Amino acid sequence: MIGLISGTKSGGGACARLASAWPARTRVYEGPVREAFERAFRECEQVVCFLATGAVVRLAAPLLAGKAVDPGVVCVDEGGRFAVALLGGHAGGANALARAVGEVLGAEPVITTATDAVAVPGLDMLGFPVEGDVAGVTRAMLDGEPVALEAELVWPLPALPSNVSAPEAGAAGAVPTLPQALGSARAGDAPLAGRGEEPVVRVSDRTLEPALREVVLRPPSLVVGVGASKGAPVDEVLGLVRDSLRGAGLSALCVRELATVDAKRDEAGIVEAAGRLGVPLVTYAAEELAAVEVPNPSGAPLAAVGTASVAEAAALRGGGELLVPKRKSERADGRPAMATCAIVRRPARGRLAVVGLGPGARDLLTPRARDELRRAAVLVGLDQYVDQVRDLLRPGTRVIESGLGAEEERARTAVAEARAGRAVALIGSGDAGVYAMASPALAEAGDDIDVVGVPGVTAALAAGALLGAPLGHDHVSISLSDLHTPWEVIERRVRAAAEADLVVTFYNPRSRGRDWQLPKSLALLAEHRAPTTPVGVVRNASRPDESVRLTTLAALDPDSVDMMTVVTVGNTATRAIAGRMVTPRGYRWQGV
Ligand code: SAH
Repeated sequence: MIGLISGTKSGGGACARLASAWPARTRVYEGPVREAFERAFRECEQVVCFLATGAVVRLAAPLLAGKAVDPGVVCVDEGGRFAVALLGGHAGGANALARAVGEVLGAEPVITTATDAVAVPGLDMLGFPVEGDVAGVTRAMLDGEPVALEAELVWPLPALPSNVSAPEAGAAGAVPTLPQALGSARAGDAPLAGRGEEPVVRVSDRTLEPALREVVLRPPSLVVGVGASKGAPVDEVLGLVRDSLRGAGLSALCVRELATVDAKRDEAGIVEAAGRLGVPLVTYAAEELAAVEVPNPSGAPLAAVGTASVAEAAALRGGGELLVPKRKSERADGRPAMATCAIVRRPARGRLAVVGLGPGARDLLTPRARDELRRAAVLVGLDQYVDQVRDLLRPGTRVIESGLGAEEERARTAVAEARAGRAVALIGSGDAGVYAMASPALAEAGDDIDVVGVPGVTAALAAGALLGAPLGHDHVSISLSDLHTPWEVIERRVRAAAEADLVVTFYNPRSRGRDWQLPKSLALLAEHRAPTTPVGVVRNASRPDESVRLTTLAALDPDSVDMMTVVTVGNTATRAIAGRMVTPRGYRWQGV
């Protein structure tokens, strides 16, 4: 909930606008300002004050408890010109809230968190927990001071600036191998040294106290398999899980999920234990678990639920290394144990984001695409598309660019980088799945990497919006490039579209060495459509030298078309109305 507080009449107007824009998410706190603020601060995750920053600083000061618990606070000035993220920029979400409030009120968001302002990834914004001296290490990163990256686990992190680097292999303070690291992994042990006095960014799932100038990133690397007999108390299940983690020197912050057998999906002790750990409960069918090879099978679960292992098999089901073999709970009253648990470290999975950049204009690049570009450590794409977004990349992003035609190699490179555990963005213009990189990349990719697709505005849509409403009824896209598709196949599809009276958008309509396909295709359509059928020719949609022409099947001059162009041919109902191309929806609008 977002609490809203205003002190003045003009502030009240903006406050009311925000409340009506977000009715379900906001609550207006009335009454004397101090009391209203105190209540909102206690009850809400975020607070927006239509008050001077000074006033809010004084109101908030006595209530502050810490970054992790305080709500995010945004101040909007009386004139409604600025939305200032005052408190909780990251943890409280105030930076994002200031942007959102700015959008509703037409105010300029004011963000002063250094990492947001200068494109260094916020260490507390990576999507998993972080411990230690976040402020100090962030400052060192921003100041360009050398910072050691000690990655005990390979994990797909976003790009870090060049002053954050892994120690040379074999150098003093190099990352220990996992067995070495685990060997000394007891709480309270002296943390592993970085390079001398350098601040350290450590990626680890071991329990360790961060040193003075160190942050420890806690990626979700651990899966805890659990079994429990009917009625097992939550304290017994949770106690066993916590004991097992502690005994192995593993951090509870790195647990990504509890796993068990379907039959225990509603077992209260397990459900509640997952809830208290703040992780999802994943369940598997008994047959699936029975097929997993485990070191410690036993007869009891076989009889009860149909698999010789629950805890170990559920933990190992998604692959990984068994760090803690099956353990049973110990009961003070000497009765038989009711819970079992086993812990597995999942191998890191690389992350491949397939990102459509839209047709060209920056404001047609989606916010999600922008986030993915900044989430990536490696960017793979055609050089001209890389140029389109270079300014958005975080410092330190590795760019692998290639020229036209190297699609398969690009796809293979992107997948190989992801397989190596990195965060990769593979980019394409328009939508990356439309005559572009998504298919060759996913044809290469196995189930050992995570894939995220970000849709983009494809050329047919960008052109459609410029032409009017040509795609108002059934339509099809056809690429006239016969590089990967034999002409006979293309021709068959054009004929089918002609017969089916579909609106057709031609991609790759014409290139220097390929000039007869477009006239041929138009002739095929003309067998079923009048010479006056509207045709839209859009070149470089949303780019600086954009051009839009509306013509007809009979009048189109193929020489005016090139590879930067899409050609949209109407169906038999499409009309030119007031200079715009309109295809009726064809529904009967009135009464049935
Ligand atoms: N993935 C892209 C299409 C790649 S095929 C997308 O979704 O848009 C390349 C063809 O797309 C070009 O030959 C041209 O026909 C078309 N195209 C791409 N961007 C365009 C733009 N901005 N304006 C007009 N046509 C464009």
